[in-house]
Amino acid sequence: MAHIGFLGVGAMGLGMAANLAKAGRRVVAFDVAPKALAAARAAGCEAAASAAEAVRNAETVITMLPAGAHVRQVYAEVVVAEAAQGALVIDCSTIDVESARAVAKDAAAAGLRPADAPVSGGVAGAQSGALTFMVGCEAGLFAAVQQQLSPMARAVVHAGAAGAGQAAKICNNMVLGISMLGVCEAFALAEKLELAPERFFEIAAQSSGQCWSLTSYCPWPGPVPAAPSNRGYEGGFLAALMSKDLKLAQEAAARTGAATPLGAQAGALYALFERLGHGGRDFSAVLQLLRGRLEDLPSVDI
Ligand code: NAD
Repeated sequence: MAHIGFLGVGAMGLGMAANLAKAGRRVVAFDVAPKALAAARAAGCEAAASAAEAVRNAETVITMLPAGAHVRQVYAEVVVAEAAQGALVIDCSTIDVESARAVAKDAAAAGLRPADAPVSGGVAGAQSGALTFMVGCEAGLFAAVQQQLSPMARAVVHAGAAGAGQAAKICNNMVLGISMLGVCEAFALAEKLELAPERFFEIAAQSSGQCWSLTSYCPWPGPVPAAPSNRGYEGGFLAALMSKDLKLAQEAAARTGAATPLGAQAGALYALFERLGHGGRDFSAVLQLLRGRLEDLPSVDI
């Protein structure tokens, strides 16, 4: 049975690989961390002894790695060197657009079929098979990519050519970082004005301040029971990852000359929040920085 080689079964990759296995695919996984690999085996994947073993003879290779440097290295040393001619090679990590385009070019030159497909939906989405994939690839390749990703997906959207998936991801997360800070600032001001936060929520949720950061992910505990603010800002989307994505957006803006002053401010605030020891909290915890109430928030480094 043709298999999927899956490299990087950490917080995100584990749930993703498990859902592929659950859907009846043969998944051969590899991770440099033995604990992560053992978890993948327990979740129904085969554990390879090396990245090369996972990739060799795979019809599809999926990577879910920390950053661009890891993806460049794994593509150069393993994927391009070992994958079978015609294999689909899909990188789901969040990385810079330049690296995504570079690895796609090298893979295509080696006779592989590359796509970048970063995700939105976090660890919960990875576990429940409800991720949104933003795909950058040749138009003719999209149907095959979509078919491979579908057991892990709520939606698979074609963003454009190589690198377009990463472009969509960093633009989306720049909106999210800015809008969350806007909502947090408004709660901090409402509090100073002695406007009850619950009343502010009720009104803004039905007014022009309404947005996802307010009504689906409210940083103030209470109004949205499922939001991380109700569980001490644990889990969710880590502030360190928001900081990473805003840095990628700023690097892209500097390279292309795009004006993104609010993205720059948001990036600086999340970098500060991370430096203060809160990178391991959900990103909506930045509310406590703006309220001047960090002492209520035990630091969680990652
Ligand atoms: P993670 O650190 O938990 O997992 C990455 C895994 O890659 C680790 O287990 C690590 O050991 C492994 N790894 C590193 N180098 C390797 C190599 N050379 N070969 C094989 N395995 C290797 O990170 P994560 O939270 O799973 O995130 C993965 C990617 O997904 C990142 O690019 C991140 O920005 C992105 N992302 C994360 C989230 C989230 O909520 N965690 C959401 C969206 C996107």
